[in-house]
Amino acid sequence: MNTVDSARMLSLMSSADYLAAPTLEEADLVVLNTCSIREKADQKIYSDLGTLRRWKLRRPGRLVGVGGCLAQQDGEELRKRAPHVDIVFGTHNIANLPEMVRRAERRLPTLALGMDEEMTHWDVIPHLPAGAVSAMVAIMQGCDNFCAYCVVPLVRGREVSRPAGDILSEVRALAGRGVMEVVLLGQNVNSYGKKEGEIPFPELLRRISAIERIRRIRFITSHPRDLDDHTIRLFEEMEILCPHVHLPLQSGSDRLLEAMGRGYTRGEYLAKIDALRQVRPGIAFSSDFIVGFPGETEDDFLETLSVMREVRFDSSFSFRFSSRPGTRAAEMKEKVDPQEAAERLRRLQEIQAVHTRERLTTQVGREVAVLVEGASARDPAVRCGRTACNKTVNFIPGNGEGAIRSVLVTGAGTHSLIGEERSSDA
Ligand code: SAH
Ligand code: SF4
Repeated sequence: MNTVDSARMLSLMSSADYLAAPTLEEADLVVLNTCSIREKADQKIYSDLGTLRRWKLRRPGRLVGVGGCLAQQDGEELRKRAPHVDIVFGTHNIANLPEMVRRAERRLPTLALGMDEEMTHWDVIPHLPAGAVSAMVAIMQGCDNFCAYCVVPLVRGREVSRPAGDILSEVRALAGRGVMEVVLLGQNVNSYGKKEGEIPFPELLRRISAIERIRRIRFITSHPRDLDDHTIRLFEEMEILCPHVHLPLQSGSDRLLEAMGRGYTRGEYLAKIDALRQVRPGIAFSSDFIVGFPGETEDDFLETLSVMREVRFDSSFSFRFSSRPGTRAAEMKEKVDPQEAAERLRRLQEIQAVHTRERLTTQVGREVAVLVEGASARDPAVRCGRTACNKTVNFIPGNGEGAIRSVLVTGAGTHSLIGEERSSDA
């Protein structure tokens, strides 16, 4: 979400005669787009603001803006802690960025934190880098779930779905500029359109699949409670839906899932994984985990590891519970010892590394379709792209043409695959 919002800020500022600066020293304006999902992100921003205070002093007229979730959360407090910030703007105030910058140029500071549901910035087309073949498209904003640990509903507001017509025209425009893969974004994509009486999510997927030149569709995030049979069946019918689902489990313990307010049990979660595997054998899964949620015992944690062993996720993001202001979990008394939580995180990540490796190894010897995103960071002669299962592949190019290449996987690393392009005349 923040990546898309940053791309929107870039396109807004470009039309207001600002250009992206190659280095901090050459810049006149710095906008930090912030995250407050965990405490670490929030500490990092205050440390960056310290650096920017010195940067600002080095040349008069330099401006600093802070947008995003931390700005929404801390608002006035942020201005007090960092008085050198000229613009503080919340998650619903992006569209006015050029105007706020003009005010700041006249030394008028701005604090814009309104969260009106009507205030969307969906009409601002995110900046698309030249040659991009994949693009993210926001289909919703906010969240109504209020999971006990999560600050998102507080800083991004209630869930609102974007009109289907607008999404379709954005995807058509992207396809016209060479994009072949779209990643649909929402905190809970499976509840798309339910409130607004828009078309349901499966129908949105169908309509996007009919757009010429779009070859791959992905979406994040599916909520395990709301991923329905209809959407699951689409994985059988629609080849264009990539065989990879990000399905955050958070915990494998029913007791903790209940305390988190997730609305599903371990059994229900596993049943959805099974149903997806039935309709699309070989489908890849990734997940999110939180360890050390208040009250988590060793037994609860072992339940999480046991689901991991059962599913064998292709990859996962895992975090130590971080207490966020204003959430229900912040009030929960039974805190887990931070060292114990760190140790659990280490154990979980060790198991995930084994599973990731194992899932990558199953690809060796296969011929896979790779959507090429560019040259490898290490070696410009090597191309880099992703398979439909979302695995990164670095490969030696052959004589193929176009953005989707056929690659023979010759090896697996810790996080990615290596391969060689199959020559088209082979
Ligand atoms: N809407 C998505 C998640 C968005 S936040 C969903 O429901 O899955 C991304 C991830 O950050 C979450 O899945 C969760 O694992 C993690 N997270 C959120 N709040 C957290 C907190 N307070 N402490 C630790 N991890 C957290
Ligand atoms: Fe946060 Fe839960 Fe909403 Fe995801 S579904 S954004 S974890 S409240």
